This record gives sequence, C-alpha cells and structure tokens, in this order.
Amino acid sequence: MVGNGETKGNNMSGGREAGKAQLKLAILYHPDFFIHGYPVLRGRVAPAFDELRSRGLLDREGIEVIEPDPADEALAARVHSDSHIHAAINSGYYEIALLSAGAVIRGAEEVVTARAANSFCFVGAAGHHASHDGFWGFCYLNDVAMAIEFLRENLYVKRFAILDIDPHFGDGTRDILGRDPDVMHINFHSGFTIGREDGPNNLDFALPHEADDERFLSKVDEALKAAASFGHDLLFIVFGHDSHRDDYGAFELGDGAYSAFALKVKELFPRRVCYVLSGGSNPRVARRAIGDVVEVLAT
Ligand SMILES: [Zn+2]
Repeated sequence: MVGNGETKGNNMSGGREAGKAQLKLAILYHPDFFIHGYPVLRGRVAPAFDELRSRGLLDREGIEVIEPDPADEALAARVHSDSHIHAAINSGYYEIALLSAGAVIRGAEEVVTARAANSFCFVGAAGHHASHDGFWGFCYLNDVAMAIEFLRENLYVKRFAILDIDPHFGDGTRDILGRDPDVMHINFHSGFTIGREDGPNNLDFALPHEADDERFLSKVDEALKAAASFGHDLLFIVFGHDSHRDDYGAFELGDGAYSAFALKVKELFPRRVCYVLSGGSNPRVARRAIGDVVEVLAT
C-alpha cells in the first residue's frame, strides 16, 4: 500500500495545528502522485515514500506527512496563459499537475510561516519546463512559480532563490521568473538550454554529461554561496535525481551525491528550504536519493 493516512504513527495530517513546536520537516505526499502521475515519473513515488517509512523517518518526532489539496485553478491562470491552461487540460495531466502544485504551495507555506523548518514535496508531474505559454518534459504547470505567486499575494513574502539541480535546463522557470529582480534562479544543466534568457539574478552551471559527484558538488558550493549573497526569504530546491548514472538524464552521479548535496545545503541554510521533486524514474535511485535527503532534513 502507499501512504494514505490510515497507518497509525504516520503523522499524516491535512490540517494546520497552531501553537506547536516547530516541525523539523513537513513531507508533502499524496497517493494520487503514484496512481495518476505522469508515467515516467510516477513509478518512483510510492517506492520512495515506502523507503521513508522503512527507515522509520515517518514516525520520528518533528516529522509530519501532509496530504495536499489541489492548487487553485485561478492561481494557475495567473501564472500561465489561457491557451497554456487549455493545452494542459487536454493533456490529461492537468488535475495531477494542480495537485502537485498544491503540494509545493503547501510545502512552501509550512516553511515561510515557520511551522516547519524545511519541507520536502513529492509530485506527480514536474514543473520546471512549464513556461508562461508552453510546456514539455512531463511538466504542465510551473509549481514553483505558482507557489511564489501564492506566497507574495497571501503572505507578503518577497525574495526567493531557486536552485535547480535537475540536469535539464529549467527553461519554464527562467521564462516566468528570469527577469524578476527578487528571484535568483540558479540552474544546473548539461548544455541543452531551450528558452534561455539572461536576467539580473540568473546563474547557470553547465556540466558535461559525464560529470561525477566531485565535479557536481564543487559547483554546488559556488551555487550556495551565490544564493547566500542574494539574501532570500525562501529557497526552493528543484530536486531531480535523473542526474544519477542509473537514471535517464545527464550527469553520472553516484548514490552518495544526494546526501552530500543535502548536507551542504543544510550547513548553509538550516531552515527555510523547500525541496520540490523533479525528474527521475528509477525506483531504486529514488529510494536512495529521496531517502537520503529526507534523512538529512529529519536529523
Ligand atoms: Zn530532468
């Protein structure tokens, strides 16, 4: 079974409880991500969530699993054009994209309201290739852009850093937010840069297809330093594990890369970080990568 809130001790909750000690980590998860998610992406979701359970992470104090609600369609319509929304509806993945964006919005909200130190958001469709007026690559709605729109409007949060370590260039996010003076957009990619547009706070790290852990992690240090100098209110990590050597994207990262990455992030930014799941298909890689990142955040 996948986590649906029935298992005692899962700390699964859909509601907000005020006045409690701050959570270490809010995990946003919905079983529909596994059932109705985009085929390439969905097969890893339940195995990775089961891995968190089998490591005992879901029962730890200070960890809460939250089942998200779908994002408001009016919010999607403020970030994307009418024709984009129609095309997303026709794709058959609009509903799961709304639920995925809902997870990211709630995950970000938990962190900026200081209810949780950090959050990790599972999704059923990715977001970083969804631009204002187009989408590709298993992305339909730009979850991070929608979360930023939501936080600015409802919680008056202003400045954001986005560190996208998915090995595919985050062209959709660049299209929507690349010229925003209050957003720093940092991209790891393999030289394939559709829709690239330079703006005041954009920083891109092109790595060769065969980039290993050492090469990747040395650039992570540079990226985090840049994010620190920007001075953001919330850091989004667009977390694609398709960069693993056994997954479908560029780079040849090994099993240890993701915990090393998460430790580096935590060292500089111990709170106010929202991880957003992105590319990746291999269930074994997902179990290890997501399990390791959540382990770092939960410790
Ligand atoms: Zn990718």
